[in-house]
Amino acid sequence: MKVELLDLSRSFADIEEEINQEITEIFKKCSFIMGENVRELENEFSKFLDVKHSISVGNGTDALILALCALGIGPEDEVITTPYTFFATPEAIARVHAVPVFADIRLDTYNIDEDKIEEKITAKTKAIMPVHIFGQTCDMDKINAIAKKHNLYVIEDAAQALGAQYKERMAGNLSDIACFSFHPTKNLGAAGDGGMIVTNNDFLASYCRALRVHGSGENGEKVYNTLNNIAKNEIDEAGANHTIYNPAKYHNYVIGFNSRLDEIQAAVLRIKLRKLNEYNKKHDEIGNYYNESFKDSELIPPKVIKENKHIFHQYVLRTRNRDQLMTKLAEKGIATGIYYPLPMHLQKAFDYLNYQEGYCPNAELLSKEALALPIYAKLSDEEKEYVVKCVLESI
Ligand SMILES: *Cc1c(COP(=O)(O)O)cnc(C)c1O
Repeated sequence: MKVELLDLSRSFADIEEEINQEITEIFKKCSFIMGENVRELENEFSKFLDVKHSISVGNGTDALILALCALGIGPEDEVITTPYTFFATPEAIARVHAVPVFADIRLDTYNIDEDKIEEKITAKTKAIMPVHIFGQTCDMDKINAIAKKHNLYVIEDAAQALGAQYKERMAGNLSDIACFSFHPTKNLGAAGDGGMIVTNNDFLASYCRALRVHGSGENGEKVYNTLNNIAKNEIDEAGANHTIYNPAKYHNYVIGFNSRLDEIQAAVLRIKLRKLNEYNKKHDEIGNYYNESFKDSELIPPKVIKENKHIFHQYVLRTRNRDQLMTKLAEKGIATGIYYPLPMHLQKAFDYLNYQEGYCPNAELLSKEALALPIYAKLSDEEKEYVVKCVLESI
């Protein structure tokens, strides 16, 4: 039997008809950017998370960068994050010319160790950026308490955790501002790149809405006024000259980006969002089945904290003989992956920060022991049973 690490083609049948219909509609209307689907997706996303504002952007990395910009984080500032994540997390921090500061992880959930954050705080620290790695939330009560005590922002990198919960509250609704990715491999994947920023803060929402369109328009004006302590009526209404079509578009108030989600992606995401709970449930079932199957073996399965709802974006366990196990599974037709082979503090791109090996021993150990097994909504019972059987006879 051959088992892929991820096979997205299988879920296409569920949505093929709707996708064809919606894409044809978009071509008929020729509204490709910032149209009805984008607006509706943002509304539906806000409802899904019970959050006040959702702002769609070009991808998850941009979501992080725009969120940092909206919080005014930049040169000289420090942001505490995890060394065990996808590169985009610390990259976004470095991209706004701030410094990523790494606090080691816990070996049970692979998330940032909440008890190692406080010792990293300096006078330059502005924010904490926890990542809900592989679909399980961090201990957000602890992290928010630290942030409150030291007057820091909290930005959730929830790229892998759409639908995950912490104490019955949705990931992404547990901090000042949160970021999601719709990379095709994520639990809610677009047909290309996409991302979303969510927040309950009106100013941050306006700022992100302005940043994604070159700092222009009504939101740009609002942000400009707030940043410069100008009462609303003190500057000319951008739209005062009604002889020009949408003049607000050509008035720019802050330096922004071009980072928008397009209509086709939004339409695809709206269709897939309706299936997300059902698909996440399958991920959770498979993850728990693996955990149950491996609990008495020498493998170390990931711990699911009682108060969390894990969506198992990835199923990653620990094994001392990883490379050997990978080879044996490959011989039996089972694809596996390594998330992640090199922790962030040891990436060449961060040479300039002078982190040494040994700085985050747990992240370093995990990068040598982590093994990801096939997990996706359409993985069949026979396949998951075959994976377990092969793993157990290969260790
Ligand atoms: C995927 C991912 C991102 C980046 O998202 P893109 O849409 O690929 O830019 C950021 N952080 C984490 C933890 C991710 O898994």
